[in-house]
Amino acid sequence: MQIRTMFFLVVLLFGSAAAWRLSSMSDFQLFGALVHRVDTESPLIALTFDDGPTPGKTEQILQILAAEQIQATFFLTGRELEQHPQLLQKILAAGHQVGNHSYSHQRMLFKTPDFIAEEIEKTDGLLKAGGAPEPYFFRPPYGKKLLLLPWYLSEQKRLTVTWDLAPENYNQLTKDPAKLSAFTVQQAKAGSIILLHVMYDSRSNTMKAVPDIIRGLKQRGFRFVTVQELLRHQPVGY
Ligand SMILES: [Zn+2]
Repeated sequence: MQIRTMFFLVVLLFGSAAAWRLSSMSDFQLFGALVHRVDTESPLIALTFDDGPTPGKTEQILQILAAEQIQATFFLTGRELEQHPQLLQKILAAGHQVGNHSYSHQRMLFKTPDFIAEEIEKTDGLLKAGGAPEPYFFRPPYGKKLLLLPWYLSEQKRLTVTWDLAPENYNQLTKDPAKLSAFTVQQAKAGSIILLHVMYDSRSNTMKAVPDIIRGLKQRGFRFVTVQELLRHQPVGY
């Protein structure tokens, strides 16, 4: 192998590793506004639930939130919204916020601009048809974004909302609801946006952890708000 070829391969390898890392960062994207937490001293926290709505699980999480009398934010996929429009109605009736989590939940890397626009706009249409109040913040599937998606979002002046706390990223925590809730309660800060998944059977430990997460954070003096409400406490404002 020629030195030049080898040099090229090394650059390519490190370049793609860097691009992958960049695409996965929850607190940075190349274009457009992104919020991963809010700088505030007010003891406010936004719980966010990704994916769904799925039957059974949606009712279950709504019941937990109602029992604790708190509001949360749901990032829903268009495909599931289309299948279960009545679940959107239940979420809205309970006063929660909903956002756009794409239509088919594919990684939005190396996709065409048309694909990206369709995924987002189709889901917007379903949210609108269901009477969900705007704005629809966007959360990329798997948190992945690199060039074209952020470009589209910035052109559309759409806010990307990620998180500063994703306790399910730690495998050992997902096996034990008590550990998952203890960790989350301990790590959350004023202005935190917490990412949780409860819509599938594979996430039943998270569902079990949610009541203790809420109670533990209430004990620490926190109050739960939707992402939109939390943003009102952002110093720069959105
Ligand atoms: Zn997701």
